[in-house]
Amino acid sequence: MAVSVGIVGATGAVGQELIRLLHEREFPFSSLKLLASGRSAGKEIRYEDKTFIVEEACPEAFDDLDIALFSAGATITKTLAPEAAKRGCTVVDNSSAFRMDEDVPLVVPEINAEAVKDHKGIIANPNCSTAITLMGLQPLHEAFGVKRFIACTYQAVSGSGVAGMRELENQLKAWNEGTVSEPENYAHPIAFNLFPHVDVFFDDGYTKEEHKMLNESRKVMGMPALAASTTCVRVPVMRAHAISVHAEFERPVNVEAARKAVEAFPGAELCDDPANNVYPTPLQFSGKDKCGVGRIRVDSALDNGLAFFVVGDQLLKGAALNAVQIAEEVVRLKA
Ligand code: NAP
Repeated sequence: MAVSVGIVGATGAVGQELIRLLHEREFPFSSLKLLASGRSAGKEIRYEDKTFIVEEACPEAFDDLDIALFSAGATITKTLAPEAAKRGCTVVDNSSAFRMDEDVPLVVPEINAEAVKDHKGIIANPNCSTAITLMGLQPLHEAFGVKRFIACTYQAVSGSGVAGMRELENQLKAWNEGTVSEPENYAHPIAFNLFPHVDVFFDDGYTKEEHKMLNESRKVMGMPALAASTTCVRVPVMRAHAISVHAEFERPVNVEAARKAVEAFPGAELCDDPANNVYPTPLQFSGKDKCGVGRIRVDSALDNGLAFFVVGDQLLKGAALNAVQIAEEVVRLKA
């Protein structure tokens, strides 16, 4: 069954990956419409031998679309996604606009694909750090039953889109030339630096990104009482987020069973042989669909605890890939 597909935010970092994935995964689209802001209207985007002309995203653009993949930020999504849904177009959204809305399923297909069928026109993709963390946590939860976890993230600049990547590149170039390129996107220089600040601060001292990890993990895993505390850190890595996780479980843990559970989980790749310097790194997992999980060990401070390190390409599993997987589920249900 072929469907007409649109991408909102097609000129952005996630949008570019969406175009590639729809082609590479042979998504059954009969037409592909690329949408962005008025600034990009008329711009040409090439994929292999095809040329697409970008159109300005507006409510009427969804009249002839079956599925729209949104990667244009929460503000524009709040306006346009309901317009698309009203016109019978199913929206899969990468932004935070509707993730915690009761009527909107928040889906990681390896965990809760069945939630897709309950959608009322809009389906949300979780935040990138959450999706990647869960590729390591979910298999261990299935094996031992997670009670709570503590996580520290190491987040790449491409998590801030094209602007984040440009800022790191400009600062590295300036350093090389003996000059200075002032921060524009971030509060501090990112080249040769890092800071515990991703998204805005809330009154409780956590950031919005840290709240997302707790709230979205609860929703995707269907565990409203799950406890979690996270520190999100921006690091001068171009692509792929890493997360160090310490988790406490209901049942006794063992490392061999944990490794087997990770190995059997569809979204994860076991990458765990420290004696031979084998553990996941951002360079190694950039451009990969699966998230690498390694450094699995018994946690020395928690009861029934395991520590592990998970790395994933946040433009893929943290955004574009997860969205396309959801769209594939939508098509499967329509057939
Ligand atoms: P980006 O590189 O900055 O791209 C933003 C896209 O949104 C561009 O195509 C831009 O079009 C478009 N856009 C901006 N204003 C618009 C408007 N008024 N109408 C229509 N389109 C508009 O950002 P990104 O990293 O791809 O992120 C896109 C979304 O995905 C965000 O909601 C982000 O939170 C989410 N997300 C990103 C990641 C990641 O790793 N980057 C991971 C998970 C989720 P123009 O080029 O015309 O301005």
